[in-house]
Amino acid sequence: MGPKRELKFALESFWDGKSSTEDLEKVAADLRSSIWKQMSEAGIKYIPSNTFSYYDQVLDTTAMLGAVPERYSWTGGEIGLSTYFSMARGNATVPAMEMTKWFDTNYHFIVPELGPSTKFSYASHKAVSEYKEAKALGIDTVPVLVGPVSYLLLSKPAKGVEKSFSLLSLLGSILPIYKEVVAELKAAGAAWIQFDEPTLVKDLDSHELAAFSSAYAELESALSGLNVLIETYFADIPAESYKTLTSLSGVTAYGFDLIRGAKTLDLIRSSFPSGKYLFAGVVDGRNIWADDLAASLSTLQSLEAVAGKDKLVVSTSCSLMHTAVDLVNETKLDDEIKSWLAFAAQKVVEVNALAKALAGQKDEDYFAANAAALTSRKSSPRVTNEEVQKAAAALKGSDHRRVTNVSARLDAQQKKLNLPVLPTTTIGSFPQTVELRRVRREYKAKKISEEEYISAIKEEISKVVKIQEELDIDVLVHGEPERNDMVEYFGEQLSGFAFTSNGWVQSYGSRCVKPPIIYGDVSRPNPMTVFWSKTAQSMTSRPMKGMLTGPVTILNWSFVRNDQPRFETCYQIALAIKKEVEDLEAAGIQVIQIDEAALREGLPLRKSEHAFYLDWAVHSFRITNCGVQDTTQIHTHMCYSNFNDIIHSIIDMDADVITIENSRSDEKLLSVFREGVKYGAGIGPGVYDIHSPRIPTTEEIADRINKMLAVLDTNILWVNPDCGLKTRKYTEVKPALTNMVSATKLIRTQL
Ligand code: GLN
Ligand code: ZN
Repeated sequence: MGPKRELKFALESFWDGKSSTEDLEKVAADLRSSIWKQMSEAGIKYIPSNTFSYYDQVLDTTAMLGAVPERYSWTGGEIGLSTYFSMARGNATVPAMEMTKWFDTNYHFIVPELGPSTKFSYASHKAVSEYKEAKALGIDTVPVLVGPVSYLLLSKPAKGVEKSFSLLSLLGSILPIYKEVVAELKAAGAAWIQFDEPTLVKDLDSHELAAFSSAYAELESALSGLNVLIETYFADIPAESYKTLTSLSGVTAYGFDLIRGAKTLDLIRSSFPSGKYLFAGVVDGRNIWADDLAASLSTLQSLEAVAGKDKLVVSTSCSLMHTAVDLVNETKLDDEIKSWLAFAAQKVVEVNALAKALAGQKDEDYFAANAAALTSRKSSPRVTNEEVQKAAAALKGSDHRRVTNVSARLDAQQKKLNLPVLPTTTIGSFPQTVELRRVRREYKAKKISEEEYISAIKEEISKVVKIQEELDIDVLVHGEPERNDMVEYFGEQLSGFAFTSNGWVQSYGSRCVKPPIIYGDVSRPNPMTVFWSKTAQSMTSRPMKGMLTGPVTILNWSFVRNDQPRFETCYQIALAIKKEVEDLEAAGIQVIQIDEAALREGLPLRKSEHAFYLDWAVHSFRITNCGVQDTTQIHTHMCYSNFNDIIHSIIDMDADVITIENSRSDEKLLSVFREGVKYGAGIGPGVYDIHSPRIPTTEEIADRINKMLAVLDTNILWVNPDCGLKTRKYTEVKPALTNMVSATKLIRTQL
């Protein structure tokens, strides 16, 4: 994206028709050359190319293979930007391809749609042209390709193709194109090539593993004369897969993530093929912390004995696109915190320093400064809060849940709340207008006074309350006008959090997120939302939901400290949120929603680790509300549709009501209940998609509600949209909610 998100702005201006293809290409070329030069100046020997992307690397591979779905009416030849961006973002007549998360990162890719009739052709020469472009700048690079097996394993059968279609059966069709690319790279002078095969860290069956063996056997002769690196990352590699990987024909080098793959280290130590290169990923590519150079150096020294001095390569654990770009652009962080950090630009310097030290040219000053920074981080009173540590440690191993069971609680709540059957509600945010953003910005910049700010926000809340009363919604929200984001708002008021000015990480396309940094023990010095919730409740006699972000979501959307286990940090956040929940209750708020939008996405890559994660994540959620009275109704909300595998953990969260995304995923969610899972708490599967500007009709919503009633008890069903409304316009929200309420009323008369 560039240190100041240069690519984002170039892309968006191009998409808006405000700049030309040449303008966009110029920004892209400048970014590539500055990154290559930066690495070269830092002393990096194996500098990757073809890592730049206008959207994502998987879509680039789809372009390379010419696997454009028919609906984009591509007529062959080299794929241009217009076909490329149509696949990524849709166009006036055709919607975009599906997007999904890249492993367990927050980076997304466009999912290839393949089938028996997909025609492949070599349709994007990007890898070769970027190799040549770097070469022209005097830099010999290692071109990186998404490996053929991972590419197919990340694909899905196109619409109309049998779900049972074996995507791997397409290997024979894509390998000839990989061979063409390799031949061109060789002709251009490449000496190395890297294939990213990160699916090797997942749970694979023997059939999938066999595909790796046959694919690389098939490529062997094409690759001869090149050094071939297979790169894996993001988790431990299972022993079986390690065996397959290290026996592949034609491969000369292996790359491993040694940060998330501590067990991989044991595998390497117990057997590593002789004469092969070992790319040891010792510098964390997923985080923002300065490396512990002394520890890495000793790991590396032990690996020299395994791979041989001349075959050991120092590396980052994965691509640096998952971390922030350059610490140099952080002017607001203080020097102490800065000394604890390393963004991408600093990580390449660390890699080089480690390699130099291995080669007997240790930069003593650099290592000493690093050791001093680590000591200061360890002993800083800003990091440690003994009271918090003690309280969090006391939580482990014990069970925290509300004493009364959920059906009895729901009865007690109903006596107090007196809600109609099929209660209606929304998820929290209302449209974020330009005016609102201006007010928040000016308050932050101290251009308007606190009084002016409060009165502007109050006015907004009262507007949102009035709209909901007019719509006749049953349980109201205040609309979240005081927050720009679900995590930053809380992080700014909790201790232990720091915020960067430019620590952006790409999420998808031109979209970036700026995760806060959790550097210390987390506590909540003051109430965070009580004032706003109380104010909102005072404006209406209907129940007003308190609105909080849950501990697991705050954790998963931040850069988390690496000096204690993640669950410990999560427990600390849970205790802070618990205080807020209790203050809201004491202030008379009877319904409190604790959003866990990101609980599902924190699920580890390997199945063997799921149970442990779900256990502490769900426990953390329960900690936040185990102390409230039976009559206080706890809601939670989740955004993803893929819950079927974790439904029992969701039930174990023991919320009184859950609102959940449902309409975009072909109502996949309801199938769990159809299959007989018993669910007794309140549940509101979204009745319409808020990601689209389209206004759903009353009939369509009524139809959805009826489908839900077919599998869920009438007395537990809630009616609500899929998610918050902040990205929509009032001209969309008002008619959509009007129809939602009329559909509900219609169904109520039919019960
Ligand atoms: N309460 C939040 C909102 O409505 C939830 C957002 C989310 O789930 N991503 O905006
Ligand atoms: Zn949501």
